[in-house]
Amino acid sequence: MLTYTLPYTIYEDLAKYEKAVDDFLKGRIEPEKFKGIRVPFGIYEQRKSGTYMVRIRLSGGIITPKQLYVIAELADKYGSEKLHVTTRQDIQIHDVVIENTVYISKGLIECGLSSKGGGGNTVRNIVMSVDAGINPLEPYDITPVVVGLTNDLLKEDDSFNLPRKFKITFSNTYEDSACATISDVGFIARIKEGKKGFKVYVGGGLGRKSRIAELLYDFITINEVYQVVNGVKLLFYKYGNRKNRHSARLRFLYNKLGREEFIKLFEREKEKFELKDYEALYKEERNFLNDIINLKPEEPIDEGFGEWKRNYVKEQKQKGFYTIEIPLKNGDISTEDAKKLAKFLENFGEDVIRFSINQNIHLRNIKGEYLPNVYNIIKQLDTNSDNPRIISDIIACKGADTCQLGICKPRGAVSKIYELISENIELFSALGRIQINISGCPNSCGKHLIGNLGFFGKAKRNDGYLYPAYNVLVGGKVEDGGTKFGEKIGEISAKKMPYFVIEVLKDFAESGLASFQDYLNKFGESRIREILKDFEYVPSFEEDNSFYYDWNSDELFNVNDIGPGECSASMFDLVELYLEQLVKYKKKVKEINGKDKLDLLNEMIFKSVKMLLLLKGYDAESNEQLIKLFDEHYFKTGLVSTKYENIVRLLIDNQSLTTEREDEILEFVDTVKRFYDELDESLNIVTGIDEPKEKDKVSEPEIKVFKDYRGVSCPLNFVRIKVDLAGMKSGDLLEVYLDDGDPIDNVPRSVAMEGHEIIEQKRIDNYWSVVIRKK
Ligand code: SF4
Repeated sequence: MLTYTLPYTIYEDLAKYEKAVDDFLKGRIEPEKFKGIRVPFGIYEQRKSGTYMVRIRLSGGIITPKQLYVIAELADKYGSEKLHVTTRQDIQIHDVVIENTVYISKGLIECGLSSKGGGGNTVRNIVMSVDAGINPLEPYDITPVVVGLTNDLLKEDDSFNLPRKFKITFSNTYEDSACATISDVGFIARIKEGKKGFKVYVGGGLGRKSRIAELLYDFITINEVYQVVNGVKLLFYKYGNRKNRHSARLRFLYNKLGREEFIKLFEREKEKFELKDYEALYKEERNFLNDIINLKPEEPIDEGFGEWKRNYVKEQKQKGFYTIEIPLKNGDISTEDAKKLAKFLENFGEDVIRFSINQNIHLRNIKGEYLPNVYNIIKQLDTNSDNPRIISDIIACKGADTCQLGICKPRGAVSKIYELISENIELFSALGRIQINISGCPNSCGKHLIGNLGFFGKAKRNDGYLYPAYNVLVGGKVEDGGTKFGEKIGEISAKKMPYFVIEVLKDFAESGLASFQDYLNKFGESRIREILKDFEYVPSFEEDNSFYYDWNSDELFNVNDIGPGECSASMFDLVELYLEQLVKYKKKVKEINGKDKLDLLNEMIFKSVKMLLLLKGYDAESNEQLIKLFDEHYFKTGLVSTKYENIVRLLIDNQSLTTEREDEILEFVDTVKRFYDELDESLNIVTGIDEPKEKDKVSEPEIKVFKDYRGVSCPLNFVRIKVDLAGMKSGDLLEVYLDDGDPIDNVPRSVAMEGHEIIEQKRIDNYWSVVIRKK
């Protein structure tokens, strides 16, 4: 087993996605609802409206030459002629129209890959040190654990319905090359008393309120990995904040609960899972070294071979075999180059390619006599292999080129840095190690906080004009027990940023020190502050308008087309979106009149009603249906006062919708918002029907409520059960009917994960009866 195995549900997942695309194109579902389906499937809308990106999961960055070839062909046919490697070792195809995302998904499945879980509130691609299995310093090869865990998590529905994204990382040595110490759950390999295992970190992450992970265990065996991951996952699933995505990542829960309570709850959840025999994975045949190769060793085509070997080739722990880094330009490789490389690499077996978190390609298991062959092929590709190493140590996100949240365009700035480095190659070729990380906004996809030199994009104003700029950070680093975030030392215009980087690199090169950390230790960050001073000046627009354009952009800098992020999308995000829109509409409706006002008032009623129904797990295709459901679930239950019945009826009674009713409608909107505000973070109703009624307090504990949820799809059926249970008291029994297939596969498990007990589950004809005891 080299790469992960697709879950058996993948064809059903694809069929559902295909139907959602069709419904979306025919206007049968709203864009927001479609987003909630496509994003967890790894498909994001790009900044340019109507174009999409497909993010393909590659566990630990592993891909076979055949798979790489297929992906390049799919990109050729349906996307742009480029592949992009991400900082989580996935690969992305860009500029795809929505219909073609289905064909890409089909093509991926045929070669054993998928984009499922590539985005949204899911267990994201598991990241692993790129040199796992070949690093002479590692205690053992962690690859089987990473692939085995991926296989297990992909089978579990709750992996795709979390409060927010969930990142798991494995490093093979104390250097923490995969950044386990800044992950939700991070593992660093070690051996204790002859047993393979890991040091475990939890609660780290970059982005809003970045946090270095804390130690959870000094040592666990590899057989405990599944149990630990699922304990944290279940804790997150149950207690994570589903109401505010900005405070939803695991680190916020860790902070909120405090270490002691977090660990107490985690231990309780962990006990619900069995150990998994990951030791058994090491008994499978895992020799991917290929001794018999049908290629004639070549001579290097030019004298650059020696320099290239010094920069980009390392000997593996397997004697006589080598690993080669191919530094990509901004993480991109053309499909033509990818195919050429893949065809060539087929000669060397299956385990020859990994993608790194530095967005480069790493080859492995290449016998020494074939290094010139590899060199000769790489010379035919458009990469940075001819350039000094520093170039492969720059990470930059895609920024405003494609990302909807992007402010600046780091890739343009990086191209300028490359250009400036290539003007002085000799000086930079002997440069010591330095990591430069750049993000297009504060969100940290370019990991600016852990760069020795870090930048993140911002918009600044000068002389009445906006210009692109970066905050400058110094001193970030990652290592087991020594991870540190960079300190902000100032800011710089995007225009001057590449020149500033070059000045710092020159100073570092001239110091002759082996690493930038040594340089900082010797001179302190004040040295960088001094250099920065020379680049701070921003001329007025009249003096030099080039400062008001970003690199690689011929448009005057603006932030008008920044859109809502796509990173998190679920039904609950849709609720939040409606809420945000309602707040905006309340302001706007005061400024408009006539038909525009009436349309907006109608929209406000529609969104208010839809939002509350979604919280109960209902959606409707017509306004008549919306009214009926609202009546049943809100008016009849007393959760919303019946004095608003006439307002809700306006959805079908256009004649009665007049501007005089504005105040009543605004009051209704406020009521809806208040109702939402009173829900707890896990979206349980904490007022209204949740209050035990007087008769409940004295009645027998086991009252059976019956609900028929046949014909209700996932996850709406689950949400309805959750709401039913919220209205019952501890120990009460609820019987539900569920359809065969997804509902019976998913719902009882999810209910049990919330702590309720499944008393009975039995088939009746083509459906199921499930009896649940409320916790
Ligand atoms: S850091 Fe900001 S600009 Fe860059 S990819 Fe992430 S969200 Fe987009």
